[in-house]
Amino acid sequence: MIKKKGILFVLSGPSGVGKGTIKEALLNTMDDICLSISATTRQPRSCEIHGEDYFFVEENEFKDMIQSDKLLEWADVYANRYGTPRDFVLENLHKGLDVLLEIDIQGALQVKSKMPEAVFIFLSPPNLEELARRLCNRGQDSEESIDLRLATCEAEMAHIKYYNYVVINNRIDEAVEKVRSIIQAERCKLNNLSLG
Ligand code: 5GP
Repeated sequence: MIKKKGILFVLSGPSGVGKGTIKEALLNTMDDICLSISATTRQPRSCEIHGEDYFFVEENEFKDMIQSDKLLEWADVYANRYGTPRDFVLENLHKGLDVLLEIDIQGALQVKSKMPEAVFIFLSPPNLEELARRLCNRGQDSEESIDLRLATCEAEMAHIKYYNYVVINNRIDEAVEKVRSIIQAERCKLNNLSLG
């Protein structure tokens, strides 16, 4: 019998590119992939739920998680800390289930060094002008913070070579379809199957 191995998909890209929106759209149409819930020291936004959007933790708790090696990766992202709980990811992969991480580029590079067999998808903005427009429109950041995110994006683009796929987010529905196709294709790859 042919059995599928669990595949780790890492969706990553610069701040404001639309990772969150694409992740939501994917999860709404694919029920056979588990989303890893990250831990963060950021304060919850009004619509966010502990344990669903993030595990919201204090700085001390986050430090404990690092020290006790509970995080597969972690990074400081624009003044807050974010990390991926290791056990959830490994346990689900072990069961043969696919896991999705939506994380920043520093985190993706750490996962790449520990689990190079994972599938790395870089979500790119069409250009910097469009990214600036999206960051302004989402109304979450000051002008200074937007400038920092744009400068960081330019540096982050240099890491694109470590990824397996690049999806340019021109239109959300098209980008979601491309990511979904990548997931489906990876599931059919011989490397990701065990032939019993
Ligand atoms: P937000 O605070 O807007 O939800 O997320 C801010 C940034 O942190 C986004 O770029 C998001 O992808 C990233 N992020 C969320 N969870 C993690 C994580 O577990 N690890 C890393 N490295 N980045 C994360």
